Amino acid sequence: MADQGRNGEKCGPRAIILARLLRLLCEEGILEPSRKSPVVRFQHPDKLQEILSLEPEAQGVHMNEILHLCHDIVKYSVQTCHPHFKNQLYGGIDPYGLAGAWLAEALNTNIHTYEVAPVFVLVECAVLRHVLNIAGFPNGDGIFAPGGSMSNMYGMVLARYKAVPDSKMKGLSGLPPLVAFTSEDGHYSVKKAAHWLGIGTENVVAVKTDSHGRMMPSRLTCCIQQAIAEGKKPFFVSATAGTTVLGAFDPLEQIADICHQYGLWLHVDACWGGTLMLSKKHCHCLKGLERADSVAWNPHKMLGAPLQCALFLTKEKGLMHHCNSASASYLFQQDKFYDVSFDTGDKSVQCGRKVDAFKLWLMWKAHGSNGFESLINNAMDASRYFKEAIQVQPGFRLVLDEFECTNVCFWFIPPSLRGQEENDEWWNKIHTVAPKIKERLILSGTLMIGYQPLPHKGLRNFFRFVTSCHPPPTYADMDHVWQEIERLGADLW
Ligand SMILES: *Cc1c(COP(=O)(O)O)cnc(C)c1O
Repeated sequence: MADQGRNGEKCGPRAIILARLLRLLCEEGILEPSRKSPVVRFQHPDKLQEILSLEPEAQGVHMNEILHLCHDIVKYSVQTCHPHFKNQLYGGIDPYGLAGAWLAEALNTNIHTYEVAPVFVLVECAVLRHVLNIAGFPNGDGIFAPGGSMSNMYGMVLARYKAVPDSKMKGLSGLPPLVAFTSEDGHYSVKKAAHWLGIGTENVVAVKTDSHGRMMPSRLTCCIQQAIAEGKKPFFVSATAGTTVLGAFDPLEQIADICHQYGLWLHVDACWGGTLMLSKKHCHCLKGLERADSVAWNPHKMLGAPLQCALFLTKEKGLMHHCNSASASYLFQQDKFYDVSFDTGDKSVQCGRKVDAFKLWLMWKAHGSNGFESLINNAMDASRYFKEAIQVQPGFRLVLDEFECTNVCFWFIPPSLRGQEENDEWWNKIHTVAPKIKERLILSGTLMIGYQPLPHKGLRNFFRFVTSCHPPPTYADMDHVWQEIERLGADLW
């Protein structure tokens, strides 16, 4: 039994479903959705459950039925590769990244030992080496982690091990409380890490940011001194390179000076903004990165690697191994016949681990560093265009005059609210505009874009627009965004 594909290619019975599924994905234009097709066909959960047959049954179903189900799954899923999906910091995927994901999945490789993953261990080493050099850690170490939140946790664990080496074996009892610092615009995963590591969320100090969302170094110093005065033990600063909402880059050099002065570990959460490392034009945003002790970067965001693809890098070789190893004797035997330093899995907190590095590696091979740079510069340029386009529209108001990373944050002011006194009542109305427009956008399927308030800055709900590398954004796509918001917000309130 063999399936004769369209181009005459043959595959065995176990692979037929793949050939069929690939055909379905191509026919549905998953990687290249038409701009006229909806980004989402929204249904409320009860209705969607009715439409889809979700319960597994005793009797397996025929292949055609499986394909029918897959068709519906695709139909009601959000089309993240659509040019008008601007909802999150991830979006469309790089086709080579997807090819890499499929290849790695098909081989079902577990990247803990060289024995079972010879090629992929070397691929991961090569990608890490390359990125370590770009980040300015030529003698560093790293790992692909299951997401940026985990990378931030890796940073905190290393910092804790460095500050209190006994913590690995004896735990934290009997020590003064450890205190971590990040900015009030930093990512919430730093708090989660503090919870999971027994440090406690109250021991994560949120350092004030300036009007652009950048950590204020003078405030960091005050916070450190205050913690010391309270008898606590500062150990970790997580600076952010590209904050999630405003896209702000903390001043790394000044923060590095402070960390040096107080002997604190400097971690840089570059999950979002780290991609700018790869562009000569924009890498100045990350100035001082090489002075960090560790860095988190998510190629699965701006660069368009398929989820998940997240790197954790650290300056000191060997530290990850000392900190995280458990030397399981059934896996990491030291009497193997090959160089066991390539059994890199013990520096991970995981046992089994996917080969996320391969997706980035295949993308890098296909585009080259120059190709990445053009994709990044194009995304940044599209954001600049968008910012300048809405700046001259009467109904739009920027949250910040400048934009950093690709984030452009703005309010839409409906015609009925223009030219009025901007008192609390007015702002209360503006606060409801973004959620209402968002609802209309989703129900019409023409655009997905994020919104949020920033309570610590006293900012009511505003839209956050971001671009990423895939699909390469065009000026027409940018115009579509503000025009849709204007169209669906014109009659409010
Ligand atoms: C997205 C993001 C994270 C978390 O990354 P995940 O891969 O979603 O866990 C951390 N920090 C920043 C600044 C982010 O934007």
